[in-house]
Amino acid sequence: MKSYQIVDWGQPLQARQVAQPVPQGKQVLVKVQAAGLCHSDIHLRDGYFDLGGNKRLTAAQYGAKIPMTLGHEIAGSVAQVGVEVDPAWMGRQVLVYPWIGCGVCEACQDLRDTDCEAQRSLGAKADGGFSEYVLVPDARYLIDIGTLDVHAAATLACSGLTAFGALKKMPPMKPTDRILLIGAGGLGLSALAAARLVTRAGLVVADIDPVKLQAAQAQGADVIFDNRTPDTAAALKAAAGGPIRGVIDFVGSGQTASLAMAVAVKGTVIVIVGLMGGSLEIALPLLSPRNLTVRGSHVGTLDELKELVEYSRQGQLPGIPLTRRPMSEVNEALADLEQGKSVGRIVLTPSELA
Ligand SMILES: [Zn+2]
Ligand SMILES: [Zn+2]
Repeated sequence: MKSYQIVDWGQPLQARQVAQPVPQGKQVLVKVQAAGLCHSDIHLRDGYFDLGGNKRLTAAQYGAKIPMTLGHEIAGSVAQVGVEVDPAWMGRQVLVYPWIGCGVCEACQDLRDTDCEAQRSLGAKADGGFSEYVLVPDARYLIDIGTLDVHAAATLACSGLTAFGALKKMPPMKPTDRILLIGAGGLGLSALAAARLVTRAGLVVADIDPVKLQAAQAQGADVIFDNRTPDTAAALKAAAGGPIRGVIDFVGSGQTASLAMAVAVKGTVIVIVGLMGGSLEIALPLLSPRNLTVRGSHVGTLDELKELVEYSRQGQLPGIPLTRRPMSEVNEALADLEQGKSVGRIVLTPSELA
């Protein structure tokens, strides 16, 4: 089967013919119909994450191996199952939960795969969905999507779930309170789409790209703000129209996290999601008297993804703008994403379906 793999760090992905896996035991083979593209694919391809202060976490230290097939937003149909899998799965349209843990540690037993210290996430540490087929270790990581659009469903596995997981970490709020979403890319738009399932707060979106801010407005942002505005923090606080009691930073750079600290009121919860890189210096005596929370949020649990798919099936989760491209254009698509040229999410389709 054809797979698009990282062969050398920092180099374009290569289309390679690899052996098609045969599912054993609890394993399932899924024929890929849609695979979303994510900013973390760029970091993995480049082979490192920027830790700030000239320090790096290499993709190898993170647990990625080469050659490795990228792609963690995967939807398709069940093509083959191992002998321990219920054959009723055959042919079903499914979304794959890719954030898979070791299956045996305490976190995994508690269904907190994202807190597992030995994750084998698809498309990040194990072969993923930029391929004709993907091998899933266990049918319990499959979610039946029925008649949902396979492209839209694919994006729920990372951008949708990441946004949903971060929103769930916000404190209870009133309509006069504000949540600031930094970054109006696929994640920011996904957060706007999911916000009404989780919070009553007004939604403020900040970005440096006017085109993306327009998309955020169309997606339901109450306030949009151009981060290139001089005296940014003061102008943003004034524009927000209410106290910014929550911040979700989908960029995750030293600059955006500093902005989050600067616009916080007492009690604000700041959730860092993006992996753009850098570091944040925090004056410790501010944390306690200002009652601040700064925390990370990594994707979400299998149960949260099931919940999100159910909302989608009930028609309660608006879609975000999608651009469909043939999988053979994966390197061009990564370049467009890196240069900020895409609005919403890019979803790759295997070439024979494109
Ligand atoms: Zn992702
Ligand atoms: Zn585990």
